[in-house]
Formats: sequence, structure tokens, C-alpha cells
Amino acid sequence: KPDIAAKMAIGLKLAKPGGIVHALDGVSLDVARGEVVGVVGESGCGKSTFGRVMAGLLKPSAGEVRWNGRSVGKRASANDAAAGLGTQMIFQNPMAALNPRMSIENIVGEAPRAHGLIEGKRADYVDAYLKMAGFDPTMKKRLPHEFSGGQRQRVNIARALAVQPELLICDESVAALDVSIQAQILNLFTRLRSELDLTYVFISHDLGVVEHISDRVLIMYLGRIVEEAPTEEVFRRPNHPYTQALLSEIPRIDTTKRRFQPIKGELPSPLSPPTGCHFHTRCPYVMDRCRVDVPKLKSLGNAHLSACHLNE
Ligand code: SF4
Repeated sequence: KPDIAAKMAIGLKLAKPGGIVHALDGVSLDVARGEVVGVVGESGCGKSTFGRVMAGLLKPSAGEVRWNGRSVGKRASANDAAAGLGTQMIFQNPMAALNPRMSIENIVGEAPRAHGLIEGKRADYVDAYLKMAGFDPTMKKRLPHEFSGGQRQRVNIARALAVQPELLICDESVAALDVSIQAQILNLFTRLRSELDLTYVFISHDLGVVEHISDRVLIMYLGRIVEEAPTEEVFRRPNHPYTQALLSEIPRIDTTKRRFQPIKGELPSPLSPPTGCHFHTRCPYVMDRCRVDVPKLKSLGNAHLSACHLNE
């Protein structure tokens, strides 16, 4: 039986210009310790919001997130480790997470110093985390703007690791990087996973990235999980028509460019999502009941779940 580190069953309504958006609708997930869960979906499907709720940056309107058996309350910022819940987020734009006026040394050392993690530890605490993230500590007196995007993301990773998290929530963490740098950072995440026993939730619109790093994949559409399965199962036997549409348009020759291609039709506005199955306005197999009944996630065996009336 897997050792469950995080458990959640949540809903979230957000006030937006134009009305209320049901950003997360009955989203339920258990994350096993040491697991890498990939969360995939088009822009606007709710995956980043999901990550922010998991990290305690947004409070769910219904349900709760529990990490190591404790409720994740709302926290002040992504860098706030005060809750001691052992979660950290790594965002797409490393520059936004790094104070441009602080040296690399202070950026990485600030949170662990504030939470007493450095006291009594080796003088080279910050150096050790910079090295772990593949950043040369002899450059720690410099400012973030002096480095490339890849180097800044390494600093960001060192900053997150320095507060000794157990769960890293990576939100499009390699999306802004060149493909060769992406591969280096993904390999770094994989190495850190085994060295530090980390658990990851890896949010990405890039199927290649998710396939490379994840043990299990969730596919999200307009605030709902529509499919969930071990990675190989999702890529070999996609069940939900949305997942099939995503995968069918992956280029076959250049596997480094497995990016989303536009699926037929626009993603509907989350302000007025389609009734029943949210995907019915774009689904080639739509039936009458799809416009009325919300399909529930049902087991197909092999830890594979899908929410589609075609399975009934
Ligand atoms: Fe398509 Fe209906 Fe399945 Fe939704 S429930 S994915 S509309 S067949």
C-alpha cells in the first residue's frame, strides 16, 4: 500500500471580472511519498490554480489539502516556509521569484536563516544547496540579472531546496528555457528526487516534459480531472477523447517537440462552461446525455480512471 503524503478533495470558486469561475470542481488526489505526479492541460484548464491550492497559496472554497496528515492552511507567499509543511513551489519565470537587488547568497539563505535552519549548521550551508542545484557557489555574491534563465532557475531550485521541503510543486518550471537547458533541469529534478527523497507535482502544458518525468499523469479540462493513470498507460492507451485529441496531434518524428496542438474549437470560457461534460462542445463522440450529465471518474483497471460516458 503506498505511503500517502498528500491528500486532497477540493473545489474552488474565484471571483473574476464578469462573474464567478468554478476554477476547481471536485478535484480529488492522493500523492504517494516519492511519487512524481504530472498535471497536464491547456492554458486556462485550472492546473496552475490547482498547484497554488496545494501549496497553500489559495484557500479552497470546499474541502481541504492535507500534507503529512496536517491541513495546509493559507500561507502568505510562495517563499513562506513558516508553516513547516515542507512544500515549495518553483515557477516558470525564475526572475519573478528572485529579488533583483539581493545577492544569490542572500536569496538562497534568507528563508532558512529566518526559520533557524542554518544555526549550528556548516558555514557553507548556502554553498551546499547551490552546488546541489548545479550552480557554482563562487558566484554567489552576484545579482540574478547577471545570469542566464537556466542559471537563475538553478538558483530558484537551490532557494526552494534550502528550506528542506519534501514536496516540490513545479509550475511550468522549464517552460521558459531552451530545449537543451530544459533537459538539464529535468535531469536535475530526477537526480534530486532520488538524492533527497522528494515528491513532485509537475504542472506542464508540455506532454514531452510530463512523459519524461512523471510516474502518473492527471489530465485537466476546465477545472475537472478528466483522466488519471500511470504515465505509460496514459500515453499508450489514452481513454478520454480530450486526452486522445491531445496525443493524436503530437509530432511523431521530433519527440523533443511534443507540445499541445490546438484542438478543434476554442476552450470555452470558464465563466460559462458547457453543461454536462465540459468537453462536449469539442468532442467528436458527443451524445445527447453528454450535454446534461456530468461524467464521473470511473476505474478502467490498472489504476486508470477516466470521466467519459462512453465507458458505461
Ligand atoms: Fe465526449 Fe461525451 Fe465522453 Fe464528454 S462524456 S468526452 S462529450 S463522449
